[in-house]
Amino acid sequence: MYLFPKPPREEENVKYASPDEIKLAIEELRAALPGPNAVATDPDTLRTHGFSENSYHPSSPHSVVVRPTCTDDVVKIVNISRKYRMPITPYSGATSLEGHTSGHPSGSICLDMSGMDQILQINEADSDLICQSGARWEDINATLKEKGIPLFFPLDPGPGATIGGMIGTGCSGTNAVRYGTARAEWFLNLTAVLPNGEVIKTRRRARKSAAGFDTTKLFIGAEGTLGIVTEVTLRLAPVVPTKVAMAQFPDVEQAVSAVQEILNSPYASHIQCVELLDDHMMEAINTAGLVDHPYPVEDTLFFKLQGDAPSIKNASKTVRDIVKKHGSSRFEFAATDQEAEDLWQNRKYALMSTLAATPGTRCWTTDVCVPVSRLPQLVYETKRDLLDSGLGSTIVGHVGDGNFHALILFRDDKELEAVGKAVHRLVHRAIALDGTCTGEHGVGVGKKEYLIDELGEGTVELMRVIKRAIDPYDLMNPGKLYPEKRKPDAEGPSS
Ligand SMILES: Cc1cc2nc3c(=O)[nH]c(=O)nc-3n(C[C@H](O)[C@H](O)[C@H](O)COP(=O)(O)OP(=O)(O)OC[C@H]3O[C@@H](n4cnc5c(N)ncnc54)[C@H](O)[C@@H]3O)c2cc1C
Repeated sequence: MYLFPKPPREEENVKYASPDEIKLAIEELRAALPGPNAVATDPDTLRTHGFSENSYHPSSPHSVVVRPTCTDDVVKIVNISRKYRMPITPYSGATSLEGHTSGHPSGSICLDMSGMDQILQINEADSDLICQSGARWEDINATLKEKGIPLFFPLDPGPGATIGGMIGTGCSGTNAVRYGTARAEWFLNLTAVLPNGEVIKTRRRARKSAAGFDTTKLFIGAEGTLGIVTEVTLRLAPVVPTKVAMAQFPDVEQAVSAVQEILNSPYASHIQCVELLDDHMMEAINTAGLVDHPYPVEDTLFFKLQGDAPSIKNASKTVRDIVKKHGSSRFEFAATDQEAEDLWQNRKYALMSTLAATPGTRCWTTDVCVPVSRLPQLVYETKRDLLDSGLGSTIVGHVGDGNFHALILFRDDKELEAVGKAVHRLVHRAIALDGTCTGEHGVGVGKKEYLIDELGEGTVELMRVIKRAIDPYDLMNPGKLYPEKRKPDAEGPSS
């Protein structure tokens, strides 16, 4: 028996459903999911699910939006997608930034997982939790807090993001300095529906396992191209008291050198987050009017320290001494818990502040990551480039990881084109510094073209081989992640 359908020969074009077959597939979806609102085809829903206001890459509306409530529903949908050769795009929190959930031009099923948001089991003694993949990270942490369980899930991407999407993009966030990124240590076990309709679990609930290679990892950063994640066992971390501080610097270089020394100090394990906000970002926060009192407009580091009182005291002293040594003009702790929370919210809502500070503009957010020591050069050259291009921008970075985001503003198509070119130059600058085209947002449509330059043709081909083996008809989120093969030069190789 073939576990997977026989793959088409490589030279055969993958053929998707015709308009008539799409109609039949939608009828079959309606029969399989008879619940109210389970299948939607109204133009508004198709459009809002097919396009994202966070992305300016080419897109199409989906043909149908389906809302499963359990793994069995997902199996039915995947089987219909395969029967009619209709592409299927998982969609969850819809906060991704590179066109990840856009519709396919030949017609596609949008699998809206956001209704599968239940927490199924909390195992406090084992510090883990089982949930459906549409659960939001913020709701999970709020539920644990409400129940008085002193545990939390530390990966913190955009507000509204869900566990399935976070696995799909290989996300991280401000906590990555202390807790790392969306890797299999945080996802103990996944239930996934493969393109052939098979339901698999990648592991059991044990904290660790050496039973073969790590198939959980296969789905992390796969952007819905290898299967649909329906349930997840998350590892949780103990809630630890934190304190928030900020330090201003004359320039990014000095700020980054301070961070390097702090993270190499014996108190590094008490540093939960280190965020960089450039002078433009600080100005935007002030102008947006979301703060009680204006902040100094300088390159600024926000720190979150963690530990019991003596550890925080020692870590604070170390941080204070090191930032001073590296030229910090000012170092302050938030005076109250509320002030600490406000300070952190300002960082989390950088995009909103950037837009609110310049009414009438839209914003293209991009992310790259380089070795931390290369970050000052990257920031310096990028700021100069954006200034020369006449583009307004702010910069925020998870500086402890060498990860930074440029939030570039534009008003019209002409400026949008200039932004696209500036992003292109930024990505090449990051790769030239031994970095990556995306530290956490993922590839989607927007970063596909950079993968071969960054990883090499061999590594990209390995990804394609895995994709073809699991999804031979290229039905799972086609058009994302994998770059098209480079055509041989028409004039032939030069040597
Ligand atoms: C204001 C703002 C701030 C942000 N800050 C950060 C940050 O600090 N760090 C960071 O990493 N990102 C950040 N992001 C980006 C975004 O939040 C992350 O990429 C997040 O992980 C996406 O989750 P989602 O649920 O919204 O996924 P979606 O956008 O719904 O989907 C993302 C990808 O995962 C796939 N997918 C979704 N569900 C499933 C599933 N069940 N099974 C298989 N595949 C699935 C989709 O097809 C798609 O390819 C930010 C975004 C915004 C708007």
